[in-house]
Amino acid sequence: LKLTEFVTVSDLASMMDVPVTQVIATCMSIGLMVSINMRLDAETIDMVAEEFGYKTDFVSAEVVEAVAQDEEVDLEEDLITRPPIVTVMGHVDHGKTSLLDRLRNTNVIEGEAGGITQHIGAYSIRLQDGKRITFLDTPGHEAFTAMRARGAKVTDIAIIIVAADDDVMPQTKEAINHAAAAGVPMVFAINKIDKPSANPDRIREQLAAMNYLVEEWGGKYQCQEISAKQGININELLEKVLLEAELLELKANPKRRSVGSVIESSLDKGRGYVATVLVQNGTLRHGDVVLAGTHYGRVKAMFNERNQKVEQAGPSTPVLILGLDGAPTAGETFNVMDTEQEARAIASKREQLKREQDTRTKKGLTLDELARRRALGNFQELNVIIKGDVDGSIEALSDSLIRLSTEEIQVNVIHKGVGQISESDVVLASASSAIILGFQVRPSQAARRLADREGVEIRTYSIIYDTIEDIKSAMEGMLSPEI
Ligand code: GDP
Repeated sequence: LKLTEFVTVSDLASMMDVPVTQVIATCMSIGLMVSINMRLDAETIDMVAEEFGYKTDFVSAEVVEAVAQDEEVDLEEDLITRPPIVTVMGHVDHGKTSLLDRLRNTNVIEGEAGGITQHIGAYSIRLQDGKRITFLDTPGHEAFTAMRARGAKVTDIAIIIVAADDDVMPQTKEAINHAAAAGVPMVFAINKIDKPSANPDRIREQLAAMNYLVEEWGGKYQCQEISAKQGININELLEKVLLEAELLELKANPKRRSVGSVIESSLDKGRGYVATVLVQNGTLRHGDVVLAGTHYGRVKAMFNERNQKVEQAGPSTPVLILGLDGAPTAGETFNVMDTEQEARAIASKREQLKREQDTRTKKGLTLDELARRRALGNFQELNVIIKGDVDGSIEALSDSLIRLSTEEIQVNVIHKGVGQISESDVVLASASSAIILGFQVRPSQAARRLADREGVEIRTYSIIYDTIEDIKSAMEGMLSPEI
C-alpha cells in the first residue's frame, strides 16, 4: 500500500478492498475505538494493514502534492536572472513607511506610464540601468514571519532600517533575528542622517555589539546612511541591495508554469475576491487556472501596481488577480493547474485536511517530541526563543543553553529579549520549529491562544537551573513528563 500520513479508516478499507466494518473491528481488537472518518496514525495503519496481509509504504502528503503538481524541471538555458524581492524591517518610527513611500514615488524611470497608484501589497521599481527590484509593501517582521510560518519563502533580502538619532531598539533586534532565522541576507540602512542629532557611528557600534559588523568597519554586512525623508543616498542603498542580489544569483524560468506566493487578498465589493500574488517562477497568464491553498479559479483579469491591465507576469512580478473563489491566506503558495476540475479536487482535499488538522495535529516542537526524536537518534537542532524579565538572566540562560550543544545536537537561540512572551514570538517559533522559554515572564493571553493553535510549546521558569536541566534531559532523550 502506498500511503500518505492522511488516511482515514474508510480510505484504508477501500485501499485494501475490505469492508470498513472489518477495519473498525480490527482496530477494536487492538483496543482502539475508531469511527469511519477518523484518521489513523502511521503505527495503527501499519498494524491494521498487516492484519490484512499488506505492507505499507509511507510517502508524505507533500510528496503526493508535488507529484500532483507535476514538478517541472528547469533547463539551464531557460533560466534568467530575476529581480530580488525585498522586505523593509525595523523598529517603529525608524522610517520603514517613509522609505517605502520614497521608493514608490521616485526611482521610477521617467516616461514609464503612471505612478504607483494603488497599494496591492508589493511593487516593482525599475532603476536607471533597467534593473528591477520588487518590494513587499507591508513593512515589519510580523508580516514577514507570518508568511514564513505558512511556508512561504518570499523575501530574498531584508533591509533593516535603524534611525540614526535613536538606538538599535527591541524591534530592530527582533527584525534582525527574524531575518537571520529565515536565512535572509540583510542590508542595513541607517536612516534620518539629515537630523542634527544623528549619530550613525553609535548604530554601527551597537550592531557590532550584536555581532553584526558592517562593511566599513571590516565586517560582512553592507550598510548605507540614508534619509528617507529627504531622499538622500537612496540610490546608493539600492545599489547595495542589487550587489547583495548578485551574490545570491537569483534565477527563474519564465517558460514554466507559474508558482509563487499570495501576498494579500480581500473581498472587493465590485470585483469579487482579489488577491495579490507574487510570481516567483514561471509566467502567470490571463486565463490560467490558479490554485492557492483551498481556493482556486481562472484568472479573469490581472493588474499591476499602476492599475494597468496586464496579460502576463514573469518572475518576481507582483500582480493583483481577479477570479478566485475565495480569499487565500497571505503566505500561501499558488500553483497553476491544467484544469479547473483538477484544481477543485485538490482544493477540496486540502479543505478537508485543514478541517481535520484544525481539530487534531499540532505541528510545533515540544520538549516531549524532542526527547522522543532524540531517543530515536534523529535530531540535530534545537531552536529556542528566550524571553525574560531582565537582560542579565537572559544572557546567562542563553549562554548556558548554547553550551549544552553537543556533536549530535546543536542548540540555537534564534531570538531573545526582555518582556512578555508575545504573539510575534509564537509566530517566529512556529515558523522555526522552536520552543519558547519564559524566565520570570508569562505569555500574553493572545500569545497563549496562538501557541495552542499552532502547537508551539511555551515553558516558563523562575529558576535558571531548572530550565537548563529540562533542556538537558530533553536533549538526552529522557525528559520526564511535565506534571
Ligand atoms: P515606521 O514606523 O518605521 O514606518 O516610520 P515612518 O516612516 O512612519 O517614520 C516615522 C517618523 O520619522 C515620521 O514622522 C517620518 O516623517 C520621520 N522620518 C522618517 N524618515 C526620516 C528621515 O530620513 N529624516 C527625518 N528627519 N525624519 C524621518
